[in-house]
Amino acid sequence: MRHNRTVMVAANWKMNLKVGEASRFMHRLEEKIAIRQNVECVLAPNFLALQPISVNLDRRKFRLASQDGFYNDFGAYTGEVSMAMLHDIVHYSIIGHSDRRHKFNESDDVLAKKVQAAIRNDIIPILCVGETLQERLANETHHVLHRQLSSDTLNITSREMSVMVIAYEPVWAIGTGKTPTPEEAQEAMAFIRKQIKDLHGDRAAKYARILYGGSVKPDNARTFMELKDCDGVLVGGASLDSDQFASIHNTAYKIAQMKDL
Ligand code: PEP
Repeated sequence: MRHNRTVMVAANWKMNLKVGEASRFMHRLEEKIAIRQNVECVLAPNFLALQPISVNLDRRKFRLASQDGFYNDFGAYTGEVSMAMLHDIVHYSIIGHSDRRHKFNESDDVLAKKVQAAIRNDIIPILCVGETLQERLANETHHVLHRQLSSDTLNITSREMSVMVIAYEPVWAIGTGKTPTPEEAQEAMAFIRKQIKDLHGDRAAKYARILYGGSVKPDNARTFMELKDCDGVLVGGASLDSDQFASIHNTAYKIAQMKDL
């Protein structure tokens, strides 16, 4: 069990990079990213690229995440890849990304099963939560975050919650170049930590990591990572540029030193 909240920088490559391209890109990143004990760098390639990348991965620098994973372990679910199959390959699984919630209509019931399946298979969930623009404008942000957290972490023990990662990703900030102000981001992440405390207790709230995600770039990464309740960033677009991602990783290292991790 971790005794501090190591800063995490996670790259969500989404449905980009063919297998060979993903491997080449991983090697380019490897050259630009230094080994940092107090920063955890996580790469989330597509399912096809995961396996070959896992064979060549420099484990001193990177850990792998899947971008999703099915909740039943085996059976007649054509087209799916289960958490049981991912068990040997990844440390983490991104669950409930807004693409999954909004483009594939994944419900909180389904996401709760995916969270449980990940944990059952020794994979740590990176659970994404966040409000749409419409919900923010209607002052429903807290309501949405509460609903997502309470439903998606149903039947999770306090100990399991304490190793989980929650990514606060306002839907309106993903891939748009728009971001919340630091105050808005901190307020939402503090609310998330308070929800974790109310639902799963003090220890879980103390150790669970909360990431910010949504248009993170080299020039704003520090602003978010400095925030009291922020333990790192989940990066989409900028993670496909090795210089930008390496720069964000370097910022994370400075923040980790500043926070004395
Ligand atoms: C994401 O897809 O999780 C994300 C945060 O994307 P972007 O950084 O491009 O906004």
